Amino acid sequence: MSAPKILIVGAGPTGLAAAIELARAGIIPTIIDRKSGPSGLSRAVGILPATMHSLHPSGAAPKIAAAAVRISGMRIHKGAQQLLHLPLPICDDPYHQMFGLPQNQTEAILRETFETLGGHVNFGQSLTSISQNDHTVTALIEDASQTFDYVIAADGIHSRIRRGLSLDYRGFDAPGEWSIADVEVSSLRDHAAARVFLLPAGKAALILPLSETRIRIVSNLSDALGAIPIPLDITKTYRTGTFTVSVRQIERYRAGRVFFAGDAAHCHSPIGGRGMNLGIVDAVDLAGRFASGDLDGYHNSRHSEGKRIMDFSENARATLTSKNKLTRAAAFTAMRVANHLPLLKRKAVENMLTL
Ligand SMILES: Cc1cc2nc3c(=O)[nH]c(=O)nc-3n(C[C@H](O)[C@H](O)[C@H](O)COP(=O)(O)OP(=O)(O)OC[C@H]3O[C@@H](n4cnc5c(N)ncnc54)[C@H](O)[C@@H]3O)c2cc1C
Repeated sequence: MSAPKILIVGAGPTGLAAAIELARAGIIPTIIDRKSGPSGLSRAVGILPATMHSLHPSGAAPKIAAAAVRISGMRIHKGAQQLLHLPLPICDDPYHQMFGLPQNQTEAILRETFETLGGHVNFGQSLTSISQNDHTVTALIEDASQTFDYVIAADGIHSRIRRGLSLDYRGFDAPGEWSIADVEVSSLRDHAAARVFLLPAGKAALILPLSETRIRIVSNLSDALGAIPIPLDITKTYRTGTFTVSVRQIERYRAGRVFFAGDAAHCHSPIGGRGMNLGIVDAVDLAGRFASGDLDGYHNSRHSEGKRIMDFSENARATLTSKNKLTRAAAFTAMRVANHLPLLKRKAVENMLTL
């Protein structure tokens, strides 16, 4: 039997991970992206153990490990005062830690890995519509009609495929706006640590290391740069901006011969750093099913995982931004106590690392 003809729409982390795993199974997919070339923009930073294990067989994970910062732990503060320090790593497994790498660099490694397997990313190719029958899917790409056996919709949060098929993306838009800044700093003690600062009135700020000298700051105050209550020696600002949070999920991950993965299937707060990781693991699961033939199991396997991670991220966002004085006082006390209890600290680290 000849290999199925598969179109992947979107060469973000989800589409690229699916392309790699299909290529490893002997199915070289067509992958298109409407962007004219690779993105220089970094959204996701943190890469989790499950993602590294998923990307190990293709050889992408060792390249990510070589390029990324190994996050040295998490430091949680009330204002400037540290309450809890969760150091990493906690075991010898080289992937059982958190890696920090700008998303565009992760994508570059995934693209190279796909090319090594004989694939090619077609940039500057936009899908405008699809239609399907029981046997094929027809895609309109740059005004040319092409036919495939299956389509993987990895076309992100505003998925044209999802909208074209009139599929609900049920959920809500969370209130408020977050600010973001990527900067170079010259002297920050334990630079490789991720940091959370709990500030008065439900405000918070986070620092994530992007490289040996570069950090990402995120806050629900309007100015991420001004939100950090410890001295930062900023030598260069790469970008500042804002973003809002939507929490949504598609009802079924499969619509006939079309499969949804990554942000096209789910979105939630980036607090907790799960979105890209979840999309990559969706993609690896789906690609494996084209090889094994168990395509029907995809929805059940990934929809429930998506829902679990969305709930986790919403809890993290709610805790971080709670204005309830009692909730916050209880959280501060729990963290102070946990800081002296190695078993509790280990459990907190496992929660932080588990996808
Ligand atoms: C500020 C911020 C910080 C984040 N931090 C983290 C983090 O630390 N960890 C984490 O795991 N996640 C994080 N995320 C989430 C993460 O960035 C996304 O979950 C991830 O990019 C989703 O990948 P994707 O491939 O599914 O979609 P995308 O990365 O959005 O890729 C979709 C691709 O499809 C292409 N496309 C769209 N429509 C078409 C079309 N019609 N034809 C052809 N191509 C098309 C687009 O050009 C794009 O390249 C963060 C997000 C934000 C906003």
